[in-house]
Amino acid sequence: MGCFGYVCKGCNTSIRGNCFKGGESAVLIHVREGKEIGRCEGHYNEYGTTIEENKIVGFRNDNGIGANSHEELCKSEFSCDSNSGIVAWHSACYKKATTEEQNNLASSEQDIDQSWGEVRKKFK
Ligand SMILES: [Zn+2]
Repeated sequence: MGCFGYVCKGCNTSIRGNCFKGGESAVLIHVREGKEIGRCEGHYNEYGTTIEENKIVGFRNDNGIGANSHEELCKSEFSCDSNSGIVAWHSACYKKATTEEQNNLASSEQDIDQSWGEVRKKFK
């Protein structure tokens, strides 16, 4: 599976990943038809989740467990509905956002650079 990533809803820049050390700190929210299904927060791993979730068979697990497995996330992402998919934020941007911005569950743009790039200190 190739690397991929998202554009942060707060600052409009990519959330950069690192699958070994963890990348930028992010909040990832799984949304289907405008409803939140689940979320996680941690260091982005280049593959649609965080290094912390990978250790606990959590968000985007490949074991088919729960409503936030890889399979279920893909169903939401491939639905071609702008209110289904992943809403992604840098943790720092999410904290600064207003409640109204945080409650906007329109899904994030895919990062054309696949989450590559140097991890920035201000987003660690
Ligand atoms: Zn941001």
